[in-house]
Amino acid sequence: MTDEKNCGFDTLCIHGGHKTESNRAHLTPIYASSTYTFESAEQGVAVFRNEEPGYIYGRFGNPTINEAEDKIALLEAFGLKDATGEPLKLKAILHSSGMATITTMLLSNLKVGDTIITHQSLYGGTQEMLDKILPSLGINSTILDFHNLSAVEEAIKADNTIKLMYLETPANPTLQCIDLEASAALGKKHNLIVCADNTFATPYLQQPFKYAVDYVMHSTTKFLNGHGTAVGGIVVGRDLEKMNGVVTKTHRLLGGNSNAFEAYLLTNGLRTFSLRMQRHCSNAEQVANFLEQHEAVARVNYLGLASHPDHATSKKQMKHAGAMLSFELKGGYDAGLKFINSLKVCTNAVSLGTCDTLVSHPASTTHVGVKPEDRVRFGITDGLIRMSVGLENIEDILNDLKQALQ
Ligand SMILES: *Cc1c(COP(=O)(O)O)cnc(C)c1O
Repeated sequence: MTDEKNCGFDTLCIHGGHKTESNRAHLTPIYASSTYTFESAEQGVAVFRNEEPGYIYGRFGNPTINEAEDKIALLEAFGLKDATGEPLKLKAILHSSGMATITTMLLSNLKVGDTIITHQSLYGGTQEMLDKILPSLGINSTILDFHNLSAVEEAIKADNTIKLMYLETPANPTLQCIDLEASAALGKKHNLIVCADNTFATPYLQQPFKYAVDYVMHSTTKFLNGHGTAVGGIVVGRDLEKMNGVVTKTHRLLGGNSNAFEAYLLTNGLRTFSLRMQRHCSNAEQVANFLEQHEAVARVNYLGLASHPDHATSKKQMKHAGAMLSFELKGGYDAGLKFINSLKVCTNAVSLGTCDTLVSHPASTTHVGVKPEDRVRFGITDGLIRMSVGLENIEDILNDLKQALQ
């Protein structure tokens, strides 16, 4: 096994979390087994009492799932120390989707009467859960402006039902950034649970555990898997007692577990994660610079551009501006549809973080159900195009954009 304490990030992408197999298979096989045997009644007792490590039942996890969990925990903790100066130890639990992960995390930490504070433009599914599912369990949420933290503090002081701060940075579709260090510090000052959805940035670009964050969530469907082959989600936590206790219990009882095949695909994707991110980022930077100069484009939302209002915040907490951007066509709705229809290399699909460049027109697809005046308030104008820049040759991406913008 690899000496994980002394390895670099790229090495952890490849070797992190791997355990030598009993049959010495090079790669951890897909454990297609719903249950696990015990050598003796006594061993069964020890495993059930958590006195001895061992697998019990597929819903609780298996070696293929475990490898992906340990790898991602190592990447989120990379280079960080705990309060005593020792390398930070995190625990991660893989789920069937990002949404299942967020459900487990919220229901592990909240009860009837509690309030969540969050900010605008969360992932659509998350916002819908806060609006349509949690209120019937007596859990409400308030949207605040996290660019004004003194107002956030006033709101916290005025309402003692506030228990959890939910952050997602950067966020769709304008790549708004929240200052993780300042927000998390404020949350901890008032004893809130602080969690951050790190899907867009990934641990390659941003490590929320550098700051006073308790939980990090990912939709592993995106950059972590990287190939668009499986839906998944993961919650990573620093309070190991809670992670092994209430969070594990909630995960097992809600039943949003992952499975061996999709965990295998995730681990396989993660082996090239670091390399992929380098190329994603350099391609995106070139696409943003190209679009900013183009006469058909009114505005480009990319954190690497000095024109982005959160450019400075992103520079403080992210290694690079990342691979996500959006831009506004001067021609509005019709220009948006024409542009999408003209693409020959880039793929017309929602989601993000795959090897190929994905392009979507939110006003006619993901946000078609949102009232036009709300859309404008969220920055989703009729001519807005969202891009997840892929790994193709940059010349091919730029030539495709050039001909589609004509
Ligand atoms: C996709 C996504 C989710 C939801 O994840 P699923 O895997 O689709 O359930 C949550 N947060 C963000 C930021 C996402 O992009």
